Amino acid sequence: KDLIPDATTSMVCGFCSTGCGLNIHLKNGEAVSLTPDTEYPVNIGMACPKGWEALTPLQADDRATSPMIRDQRGGVLRKTTWQEAMNLFCNKFKAIQKKHGNESVAFLSTGQIVAEEMAFLGALAKFGMGMKHGDGNTRQCMATAVVSYKQSFGFDAPPYTYQDFEESDVIVLIGSNLCIAHPIMWQRIERNPHQPEIVVIDPRKTETAVAATQHYPIMPKSDLLFFYGIAKLLIEKGYVDPEFISKHTEGYDAFRAHLSKFSLEEVCLVSGVALTEIEKLVDTIGQGKRVSFWWTMGVNQGHEAVRTSQAIINLALITGNIGRPGTGANSITGQCNAMGSRLFSNTTNLLGGHEFSNPEHRAKVAAVLGMDEALIPEETGWAYDQIIEGIHEGKIKGLWVIATNGAHSWIHQDKYREAMEKLEFLVVQDMYTTTETAECADLILPVAAWAEKDGVFINSERRIGLVKKVSKAPGEALSDFSIFRLIAHHWGCGELFSQWSSPEEVFRILTKLSQGQPCDISGIEGYQLLDELGGIQWPCRKEDVSMLKLDNQRRLFDDGKFYHQNGKAKFIFSDPVEVAEQTDEKFPHILLTGRGSSAQWHTQTRTKKSAVLRKLYPQNIYVEIHPEDAAKLGIEGEENVLISSRRARVEASAYVTPTVQPGQLFMPMHYAKANKLTYASFDPYSRQPSYKYCAVKVERL
Ligand code: SF4
Repeated sequence: KDLIPDATTSMVCGFCSTGCGLNIHLKNGEAVSLTPDTEYPVNIGMACPKGWEALTPLQADDRATSPMIRDQRGGVLRKTTWQEAMNLFCNKFKAIQKKHGNESVAFLSTGQIVAEEMAFLGALAKFGMGMKHGDGNTRQCMATAVVSYKQSFGFDAPPYTYQDFEESDVIVLIGSNLCIAHPIMWQRIERNPHQPEIVVIDPRKTETAVAATQHYPIMPKSDLLFFYGIAKLLIEKGYVDPEFISKHTEGYDAFRAHLSKFSLEEVCLVSGVALTEIEKLVDTIGQGKRVSFWWTMGVNQGHEAVRTSQAIINLALITGNIGRPGTGANSITGQCNAMGSRLFSNTTNLLGGHEFSNPEHRAKVAAVLGMDEALIPEETGWAYDQIIEGIHEGKIKGLWVIATNGAHSWIHQDKYREAMEKLEFLVVQDMYTTTETAECADLILPVAAWAEKDGVFINSERRIGLVKKVSKAPGEALSDFSIFRLIAHHWGCGELFSQWSSPEEVFRILTKLSQGQPCDISGIEGYQLLDELGGIQWPCRKEDVSMLKLDNQRRLFDDGKFYHQNGKAKFIFSDPVEVAEQTDEKFPHILLTGRGSSAQWHTQTRTKKSAVLRKLYPQNIYVEIHPEDAAKLGIEGEENVLISSRRARVEASAYVTPTVQPGQLFMPMHYAKANKLTYASFDPYSRQPSYKYCAVKVERL
């Protein structure tokens, strides 16, 4: 009887970037259950298992309920007061900065907190505390798309709306296991009435590849050359849109000249795809009327990821498949607020999608914030990997980690953990005390989770959705927002943030910061309109609001104008390079890592708290191995095997399956040990880690 709700409100889910609407059923103002929102314009009345179980992790026993201090490394945590925690936080970080310079303290944050908190953190750390270096775990998922779009389109602008899944006649999914990684987006494809060709380009025969009409199992990291081959053949066969190219792009002739370097024989040899198959794919794309290209981590997490995603963008440009319904070069985001981080985290970009290096941008941001312009750094700080390297080199001595679990998720995990041990002071701000990263912390700041605070997330299709406080945080846990206010006060820079009094006030500041930018949301005056319309995609200027009330779907570039000064999109390309770590006689297999299930999320920090989700996913680490390899090694059934890389040895249960190709293995990233094996190489432009390729060997135990 206590669980019978007396009211319902709606908000967006806090796991993935799909941004589904959930109806939260309340009893006396507290959430007691949820169901998918049937009105929200994203999720067609559905939710995946994580969404259905979203309230469960809030109740976990290991929630951080008070600040905790570890007096000695390796020692136990003891509870403390917020006063002592704030004193320690400020005294330690200030002492480090005094001795080693402001740059010796950095932060690592997340795509999981609301945009208002991201902005507060970025502004507090860089403008208030004088930090130069800070990055987010979005470096692990979306940095490549950011750089690609900026260089190709002139702004980080995924052009699509989810409606495009339903309006394409050819859907090309690249390095995306949409069925399990973004299951609700897959449901949008299932609703497509045009009987689309669904093409999957992926080394593995994933769930999505099985459901597709065409699958091209390219060799891992042959993708850049493969797409150059596809572009070359599209041009040779006349499947191009000369009018679109001449009116809306620049650099086409140079791109054609670049393609002439590569023979189709070489493309077939390197990718492992036969010429007849490549021709079939080219005909499918070339004959499609509304072709959409979608990519995600299989592309973004590569050693030449930016150029690969730009090779995909180039396919859309040469065929004129952008700016129309059912088209687009479309990067799908990972985390619920990765898109918010891209615009408002103050890490890679200055707040509002501005540039630290642009004096006009700095002046504008300073004016909106009422701050001295001199407080704004003139250059972007280090990327995530450079911060870790900086710790190893003794340049960074203090680190503040917010809502991310790098000790599990970062590439070449042992190196990350060694870095944590080298720090003079590590603060972890998290909802749990038990993450692998929290286990290294000197100070833990306990936070309110999704649904225990207010704010907005921005989803993959640029839709800003509301998060609401529908549950009380346990014990003394505070929202990240409240913690940032406390820190500003104790640090002595509270005056700078006197306007930042509530999440909604900060949201209003963000709308002002966005004014005049491609991501202009100055038409959204507060949370009420977001609630009324069911999320709003950017851009949304004042003059857009009345139109949005009629049609709440916005696609970019329908006027053929891109964001470079000349209004044109650029063809960007370069020569493929080899992966950083090659297989050899000692380590003959390629290890791929990725998402293993729609029931688990990243490092399982929240999802493993749900008995329902645990049941839907094997609890013991496993590795997929092809039957031919298993037969050669005498591996039968689900016996335990040893996977070794040049960095570590990990035991796992063998799952013999033809979903992987001979010579390749696959291990889900959700298990803590997967990243003991991975090799730390990075895309040179985005500095995104290359999780999709390292050399290993497999042996019977
Ligand atoms: Fe939440 Fe993503 Fe699942 Fe939707 S698909 S319910 S946003 S985890």
